[in-house]
Amino acid sequence: MQSAPTPPPPSRRDVLAGLGLAAATPLVLGSTPGPARHDLPSRPAVPGGRTVLLRGASLVLTMDPALGSGPLGAVENADVLVLDGAVAAIGTALRTPPGARVVEASGKLVMPGFVDTHNHLWQAAIRGGCTDRDLFGWFRGCTDPQRGRLTPADVHSIVRLAALDAVQSGVTTLVDWVDIFSYDLIESYVRALAGTGLRFTYAMFPPAPDAALVTKVKRELVDPAPLGSFQVATHAARAVESHNRAHWEAAQDLGVMLNSHVLERPEQRADDPIGVLAGIGALGPRLLINHAVHLTDAEIAAVAEHDVRVAHCPLSNMRLASGIMRLSDLGQRGVKVGLGLDGGTNDTSDFHALMKTAVGLQRVRTTRASVFPQVHEVLRMATLGGAEVLGLSGRVGSLTPGKRADLVVIDPAALNFAPRFDWVGQIVFNGRPENVDAVFVDGRALKLGGRLVGIDTERVVREAEAAAARLRAAA
Ligand SMILES: [Zn+2]
Repeated sequence: MQSAPTPPPPSRRDVLAGLGLAAATPLVLGSTPGPARHDLPSRPAVPGGRTVLLRGASLVLTMDPALGSGPLGAVENADVLVLDGAVAAIGTALRTPPGARVVEASGKLVMPGFVDTHNHLWQAAIRGGCTDRDLFGWFRGCTDPQRGRLTPADVHSIVRLAALDAVQSGVTTLVDWVDIFSYDLIESYVRALAGTGLRFTYAMFPPAPDAALVTKVKRELVDPAPLGSFQVATHAARAVESHNRAHWEAAQDLGVMLNSHVLERPEQRADDPIGVLAGIGALGPRLLINHAVHLTDAEIAAVAEHDVRVAHCPLSNMRLASGIMRLSDLGQRGVKVGLGLDGGTNDTSDFHALMKTAVGLQRVRTTRASVFPQVHEVLRMATLGGAEVLGLSGRVGSLTPGKRADLVVIDPAALNFAPRFDWVGQIVFNGRPENVDAVFVDGRALKLGGRLVGIDTERVVREAEAAAARLRAAA
């Protein structure tokens, strides 16, 4: 796991002190958590580096109530200053540091990037496939046959396509739960992830316990990636309890989280995954469970009591007829829940659709419009909430000075978004990936003016098409 001390929170007065001052001295608050690490060679240098002034944003949603008004810490008409990849100040008329990239943000919104707590990017190879199947049918018909045919070149082409799709949709941190087993495929996977400039967590599922391989992948492939972190992945079930225990021990030895699928389908009740995880001593803040659709009242209580982290994947759950997670019950108990796109099952990287669905399904389930999450709550869940789930909230998830600058600029001047009524509601209910005008990760521009920076998109698509065609031909 990446970890860093939580920067001291600035007072709201400190941050707003610059409002109304002409050419105010930048409010440099907090400190950059840790030294900037060097870029991968596959990432082209961009002018302006990691010092950026986003000038004159109409609305900044900091996700830090100490910095602005309301639960999302909203600041109207403000600049956002990024120094050497870290958020440095939010205020008006901030001075432009020498060599800074200046991005005009007038008329636009700035907020933290989306944190995708659960994905399987390689499954972009089966987008649109097995649409009449549930989870198990989808495994048999699409996932399992394709996985067995992947070559390192296929993995790189497809993961690169899917990761760039996530970036262009405003995702800045992504957890990939990967059930690919040979070292050369894993190497290709990690290189593809790292090459996009995303902040990523590689959650490695070893088919059988193999502490040596897990350690080698972490140390040789993931740790050297500037924005990479690592988790051990598992499928908790009685039939493989000894594996689950070994995976948990490996995670503890490496000081990382254990990441398990749990109760996605009602049939998985027989696996008793929460009972297994409790039995091996894994219930706690170092455990991330995905889906958790069919938790009982007692299991929800246990998850809350032990501060277990949860990834909610509503688009995937609808697509695979898995059920509706009791998100409002988890929210009421204060469980830390993030949102997950979940790979090929939802066929999209659209975080706006994900947020809208997370809200809508609880309303369908309860017939109450006031049910958790409301729009501000789902927006927090999609950003800071996701960072909290991953133990990264000291580093990203809000625009608190001192945190790394993972942020997006949204342009609401579009047919699907305008006119302004309540932009928070409009981000959730109207927004689409094409409204994401700019994306910065660690202060680096990955998307500007609605286009990915330094990426030949046609070539990325062409290479993924070639890989998918080869996989189909091998069937
Ligand atoms: Zn999954």
